[in-house]
Amino acid sequence: MLDDDFKKSTANLKKAVPLMMQNHVAATPANYALWYTYVDNAIPEMNQELDDIIENYGLCPPAAGKQLYDSFVASHSETNMKELKANVEVLVNQVASSMTDTLSDTSHFSDVIDKSFENLERFEDQAMSIEDVTKVVRQLISESKEIRNSTSFLNTQLETAACEIQRLKEQLAEVQQDALFDGLTSLYNRRSFDNDINVLCEAEQTMCLILADIDHFKNLNDTYGHLFGDAVLKGIAKRFQLSSRDGIHAYRYGGEEFAFIVPNKQLRIARQFADSLRRSIEKLSVKDRRSGESIGSITASFGVAELQPGESPESLIERVDKLLYEAKQLGRNRVMPI
Ligand code: GH3
Ligand code: MG
Ligand code: MG
Repeated sequence: MLDDDFKKSTANLKKAVPLMMQNHVAATPANYALWYTYVDNAIPEMNQELDDIIENYGLCPPAAGKQLYDSFVASHSETNMKELKANVEVLVNQVASSMTDTLSDTSHFSDVIDKSFENLERFEDQAMSIEDVTKVVRQLISESKEIRNSTSFLNTQLETAACEIQRLKEQLAEVQQDALFDGLTSLYNRRSFDNDINVLCEAEQTMCLILADIDHFKNLNDTYGHLFGDAVLKGIAKRFQLSSRDGIHAYRYGGEEFAFIVPNKQLRIARQFADSLRRSIEKLSVKDRRSGESIGSITASFGVAELQPGESPESLIERVDKLLYEAKQLGRNRVMPI
């Protein structure tokens, strides 16, 4: 039985490795797991998605591969996040409960002090014996020892908590480093874009790049506030995501800048797609919750170019950026080249 497993896994690996090379896939453990699962045909739904990606892009862009790995092979980062959250909760509960303990101990202690003083006053009034006084003092000493123990326990707990928080912070930074998606818009993030564009240019795939920049976004922030600006960005991203069919990938490139990789298409088609994006946000209207006012007239400018044979990602991005700048100069809300 074990022998069969070994034979099967060797056979799968022998099939997976050439496929990975052919599809420009980096030799990472996650990628091995993904492609092993692919050749094993264990999850047909995943194979279908991966086949579609390869058909569109002629290879597997890193972000798409990572997304498949995360959703089908291992929900690794999700588990990490869940674990992190649970750890933080336990920690907070622990510290909170020792705080409560110490607080109730101190309040008990102050009761004891009050009581003792009352007793000592009685000692003056009623001429109590020296034994009675000693008893009161003994109790005070023992209670103050307890309160010292209780606060020192809290101190130790707080110290442990501080160390633990530091460790969790580091873990969180790692998980975020690993993230594919942008937190605000849920589009692929800049890191995903950089990885994908590098691999696609390297492989000289037929593709077009679109960059979009929202028009006069600073004015919108200044007039309605940054939070409203964020809501507009979310709304725009949602439109962009819905419009991105046929294997087109949408990324948040920067603050209010977006990128689109259009696989397998010539400039004319990518231009048409950019213009459909432009029109889709022209129709967008976002309501300002504070004033109830609806803000329409949100527009964006676009630059589009096709990757030339042997061209570097930097050169492609620079050409598209120039076209985007021209679109702004010519009055915004347009796609360049015309
Ligand atoms: P232009 O038409 O020339 O592009 O004008 P603009 O005002 O949009 O100019 P620019 O693109 O240089 O300015 C971008 C502004 O977008 C500046 C910054 O305050 C804002 N911004 C960037 N990222 C965010 C974000 O995440 N949220 C919000 N609310 N605003 C952002
Ligand atoms: Mg900008
Ligand atoms: Mg702008």
